[in-house]
Amino acid sequence: MARFGIDLGGSKIELIALGEDGSERWRKRVPTPQGSYAGTLEAMAALVAEAEQVLGERGSVGIGTPGAISPASGLMKNANSVCLNGRPLKQDIEALLDRPVRIANDANCFALSEATDGAAAGAAVVFGVILGTGCGGGVVVHGQVLTGPNAIAGEWGHNPLPWPRAGELPGPACYCGKHGCLETWLSGPGLSREVQRVDGLDLAPADLARQAAAGDAVCEAALARYEDRLARGLAQVINVLDPEVIVLGGGLSNLARLYANVPRRWGAYVFSDAVHTRLLPARHGDSSGVRGAAWLWNDYPGRACRLRPAAIWPRRCPRSRRPRSRRYGPDRRAWTGRSPRAAGNAASWRCRRS
Ligand SMILES: [Zn+2]
Repeated sequence: MARFGIDLGGSKIELIALGEDGSERWRKRVPTPQGSYAGTLEAMAALVAEAEQVLGERGSVGIGTPGAISPASGLMKNANSVCLNGRPLKQDIEALLDRPVRIANDANCFALSEATDGAAAGAAVVFGVILGTGCGGGVVVHGQVLTGPNAIAGEWGHNPLPWPRAGELPGPACYCGKHGCLETWLSGPGLSREVQRVDGLDLAPADLARQAAAGDAVCEAALARYEDRLARGLAQVINVLDPEVIVLGGGLSNLARLYANVPRRWGAYVFSDAVHTRLLPARHGDSSGVRGAAWLWNDYPGRACRLRPAAIWPRRCPRSRRPRSRRYGPDRRAWTGRSPRAAGNAASWRCRRS
């Protein structure tokens, strides 16, 4: 059985078919029928039908979408493709495809993709952040998306910027109705707006980084301010969740300097003598959302045992002499830092890998 992921976006719908090992078997992208709920359902069903015809097998279906399914009503909420809001998307697409379908927020899918076989593979607790036109987030614990009773776990973008400095209050107005949300500071448009307001520069983030690298003091200061705000926002997440890895996606995750500079700054805000959290760029880039939608079915019977070790611990083979870190052993309780064979864990590996 194949594993299909669908990224349901405002402008395009993309389907990916993943193989057992996470390899891409097939992919197709179509425009999203604008303003048509029925058309959106049909477009997704047509993609699944085509994938099954091409691959010659039936598949599980996971969907990543903006917004979430309201636990109270079972209806979609908060989606920027507004024709989805208030609709029973899950029931309707399940009826159309004649199978159970899993649906998750697109930032949650991003985090799941990176936690499963991406930059954070092997980490028990992962916080995934999308720094793009907005500022989304998702939490994955032991390979499973954390949702919560309000379906908002990981939605840090509408928390206020913590430890505000002079000039940061009340902060820019946010579409959610409040001021100073992290999204208004840390999203791509937020950064550009701030640089325009303070420095009078009209620069895209990539140009800002280029000029800072070339020695422009104004651009350097603007990026330093951004990095300090990101460090403050993430420090608050570390204080609450203490993730092993934070993965960045979205356009601003391409700023290579963030991965050294932000951890250098967040120590001043995290309530700990030392901070061991790693900040990493996404491995799957723009494909993480659609891959994560497919991985929503990473646990169905008969498959979990074979997939999870390969997917979750790919770089920590039991045959390697020294595990990279004692924190990510195949069985954290039993892991001693010695080789699994020496530690008597070979049997457990064989069990998980078989
Ligand atoms: Zn807001």
